[in-house]
Amino acid sequence: MTATPIPHWLDGARTDVEGARTGDVFNPATGEVTGQVRLADAALVDRAVASATAAAAAWRRTSLATRTQVLFAFRELVRSHADELAAAITAEHGKVLDDAAGEVARGLDNIDYAVGIAEHLRGSFSSEVGTGVDVRSIREPLGVVAGITPFNFPVMVPLWMCANAIATGNAFILKPSDRDPSPSLLLAELWKRAGLPDGVFTVLQGDAGTVQELLAHDGVAAISFVGSTPVAQAVYEAGTGAGKRVQALGGAKNHMIVLPDADLGMAADAAVSAAYGSAGERCMAVSVLVAVGDVGDRLVKEIESRAHDIVVGDGTAAGTGMGPLITAAHRDRVAGYVDAGGAAGATVVLDGRRTTLPESGFFLGPSLLDHVGEEMSVYRDEIFGPVLSVVRVETFDEAIALVNRNPFANGVALFTRDGGAARQFERDIEVGMVGVNVPIPVPVAHYSFGGWKSSLFGSHHMYGAEGIEFFTRAKVITSRWPDPATSKVDLGFPRNR
Ligand code: NAD
Repeated sequence: MTATPIPHWLDGARTDVEGARTGDVFNPATGEVTGQVRLADAALVDRAVASATAAAAAWRRTSLATRTQVLFAFRELVRSHADELAAAITAEHGKVLDDAAGEVARGLDNIDYAVGIAEHLRGSFSSEVGTGVDVRSIREPLGVVAGITPFNFPVMVPLWMCANAIATGNAFILKPSDRDPSPSLLLAELWKRAGLPDGVFTVLQGDAGTVQELLAHDGVAAISFVGSTPVAQAVYEAGTGAGKRVQALGGAKNHMIVLPDADLGMAADAAVSAAYGSAGERCMAVSVLVAVGDVGDRLVKEIESRAHDIVVGDGTAAGTGMGPLITAAHRDRVAGYVDAGGAAGATVVLDGRRTTLPESGFFLGPSLLDHVGEEMSVYRDEIFGPVLSVVRVETFDEAIALVNRNPFANGVALFTRDGGAARQFERDIEVGMVGVNVPIPVPVAHYSFGGWKSSLFGSHHMYGAEGIEFFTRAKVITSRWPDPATSKVDLGFPRNR
């Protein structure tokens, strides 16, 4: 199979640059190289920023009515091309088609939100704060902003960022993951067909080197980043050091606490769905199940039987529950944790290597480890694969303390029928996104998404009202239309009278 060149999107067109560095893109379900992604260098970053800067100057002056029309058209195009987008995700990421369709749907929610931009950008006004003096506050775009996104949501995470960034009047440069870069080009084509002027949405294919160039470029005002914690922290530090506004969302280790009064069948369904969906490659995946009191044995049995039945295979095939991992190296790293857990004293209830797996491709079945201890690497590290660790504790307080000691704080869930316990949990838990009988509590688009502690660097969560705020800055205008007859020189500090 010949590998297709995967170009950039510059000035409203696919742009291939001769002699550029490239990277292999795989179909993880077959292990074949299907694409050769171009990796932008400093000169191309410069060209992209120049194009975006010119486009931003005109776009910020485009009326809200026109921007809203473009967003409406984009929304309809993404909706009508949802199947194509989902297929493009599955081809390079590997997740099953239905899961990819869910990703597109959650991305669309962010366009729905951005369509209301006229309302979101409504400023405030105070009349007569002093005699004849009025004050109003408005929010203006930052100029050129960049989004750097992870491999695991190649459509949804770019939409978390670009819908609001563009609606608020910025030009947006997307640097997608070099592992699944093609869906970003489909988004670019849909933006263009929706009537977005050239240069307002740019795709710069690239790797860590491209990110360094964006971080160093004076023409980029803000960086919105989603990826692993070490990179998020480095991007935050370099970006803010260069005077940019940065929000950098990092990795996760999400716990699901199950209390003895919970419906164990429902809890097991939820744990299996949230641990093994998308092969565990979700930042909101449940990777630790905290069994409180005597529920451990029954829960492990219920989870084992469900996990055992998951069909692992090509995400395009009907009936597949779980697709491959993103690369062979990542699959091997994840499998290594099963060995590490066993060696450290955990009970290996299910070993994903023993699942019936297709011969080619980067597959690994679901793994389940019981009696996992807090000191084990399988508990401490973000594995980002289909491995669920079960930690057993005696009391609810111990469970909350365990979660609060963990340096990651992206998502958490509690399963119970006790409203009082749920209320205590909501208050005491130190995590950004909390689910009560909801295993993957990703906020809807009119709330904002973000973890605490080492799951987020910066002060703004992603999308919703915080997204609008992140991509704009406030301007406060104080005005007076005096009667010339009452005007005089006054050297004192202006006071309201
Ligand atoms: P990653 O950190 O390897 O890459 C993310 C982005 O940063 C990519 O565009 C990549 O090209 C770039 N990059 C990689 N190394 C870099 C470096 N040294 N310097 C500068 N840029 C670099 O993450 P990934 O493997 O693509 O995605 C998985 C990770 O993302 C997981 O840790 C997951 O938890 C996290 N994630 C977090 C959220 C969230 O909302 N908190 C959402 C999705 C994924």
